[in-house]
Amino acid sequence: MSDVTPFWIAGTPAHGQQPLEVTHPLDGTSVGRTTYAEPEQVEAAVDAAHSARHQTAALPVHVRSGALDQVARRIIARSEELARLITAENGKPIRWARAEVSRAAAVFRLAGENARTWSGEVQRLDTESAAEGRLAYTVRVPRGPVLAITPFNFPLNLVAHKVAPAIAVGAPVVIKPAPKTPLSALLLGELLAQTSLPPGAVSVINVPDDTAPDLVADPRLPVVSFTGSGPVGASIRAAVPQKHVTLELGGNAAVVVCADWSDISCAADRIATFANYQGGQSCVGVQRVYVERSRLHELRSAIVAAVESLGVGDPADEATHVGPLITVEAAQRVESWVQEAVDAGARVLTGGRRDGSTYAPTVLEDVPVDAKVSCEEVFGPVLLIHPVDSVDEALALVNDSRYGLQAGVFTHDLRTAFRAHRELEVGGVVIGDVPSYRADQMPYGGTKDSGEGREGVRYAMSDFTYDRVMVLTGL
Ligand code: NAD
Repeated sequence: MSDVTPFWIAGTPAHGQQPLEVTHPLDGTSVGRTTYAEPEQVEAAVDAAHSARHQTAALPVHVRSGALDQVARRIIARSEELARLITAENGKPIRWARAEVSRAAAVFRLAGENARTWSGEVQRLDTESAAEGRLAYTVRVPRGPVLAITPFNFPLNLVAHKVAPAIAVGAPVVIKPAPKTPLSALLLGELLAQTSLPPGAVSVINVPDDTAPDLVADPRLPVVSFTGSGPVGASIRAAVPQKHVTLELGGNAAVVVCADWSDISCAADRIATFANYQGGQSCVGVQRVYVERSRLHELRSAIVAAVESLGVGDPADEATHVGPLITVEAAQRVESWVQEAVDAGARVLTGGRRDGSTYAPTVLEDVPVDAKVSCEEVFGPVLLIHPVDSVDEALALVNDSRYGLQAGVFTHDLRTAFRAHRELEVGGVVIGDVPSYRADQMPYGGTKDSGEGREGVRYAMSDFTYDRVMVLTGL
């Protein structure tokens, strides 16, 4: 079993019977092997989380924050190993894999800092004579053990986004990573097992998609924190209406380039970079570009030039910006969506080719609004450029989507910035940059079909807890 990566049940390494082979998205070669947890092992992880809930909630803050700091340091100590693992299992170019690892360490540090300042409040009740002599004291207490389900595209950091806030508030957590990319999460499981947290505080288990609904339905896990696709998110929402569910789902993020924006070449570089980083497999990757007509020509040529300069190929190569998609089937789907748009009148300005699981960075124009590459989540390296006659029209088009994660607006005009923030029906508006910007201290999440609830360390801590009040009488 030495070459088989264990999963972690309550801090103890374990193996199941059913193999889970992890393959490289570029060429399908094996990059590692683990196993799925057997039903009794899943039961053991859930039971451990349930049994540990009071002990974990009562952990002194210095133990929780100390463990979080410790994990951050261990992630940094093993950062190159983690980055290479992410590149191998996910196909993410090594430069972006390194960025993901350092960001995951920062999430644990941030959670440690927030744990130290996470406190309740005291409320005087003697504002009415009837309540004289009474005082209310509130603390936020965990709702209970958290089930964390994560997708393949940020296999380490999206796990960090859930487990670090759970530890910070003292909630046990059972993590179910994506079966295509479990290895970095399992290594994180090892680092978590080396802390002084009680054993039941964290489990990381591989569960097949067909039995994951049983885990979702388990009443001992009253909080479900899910990041992934819309259909799976919707099925979870429908299956457990009584649970506290956070859904971080898909998007088709838009950016507006206003006529007043001074540096078109900088906007084009940012758009090209963040439409294509990790093959466009990011929920806030740029997909739709709305540009005021007077700047169309300039922006279009700058975007095409910037896209064509991106290195495409082996993700282990330091120069690669765009690696493969997660599977050949994913690249074939993107290919068919582009073909559908072309058949309906779209023009390919660059790209539009597939080689195995790699899809060339692609820029489209004249895309009909009802083409899938416009109205669905493309989740591939494809962006479309659409001229508009006014900011009004641009904002309306951004909102004309069933998704609402983040939007970007390149403008120097404060009134336009505030108007965009007021009117865009999204979780976040980024002024002067692409919608893909995210920092882990800020709230992050969607409207409409992009989900419900917010992540960002402190916001997830709120989500995992509720106010419990104690009324002191006779004072
Ligand atoms: P996916 O929905 O296929 O899988 C996500 C996770 O759900 C995996 O762990 C999978 O094994 C599990 N799962 C599958 N079926 C399940 C079921 N019936 N019950 C419970 N769990 C089940 O998503 P994916 O393809 O891995 O990831 C891509 C999607 O994730 C995209 O839509 C992307 O936009 C979204 N995403 C959203 C955010 C965000 O923060 N909003 C971030 C990253 C990715």
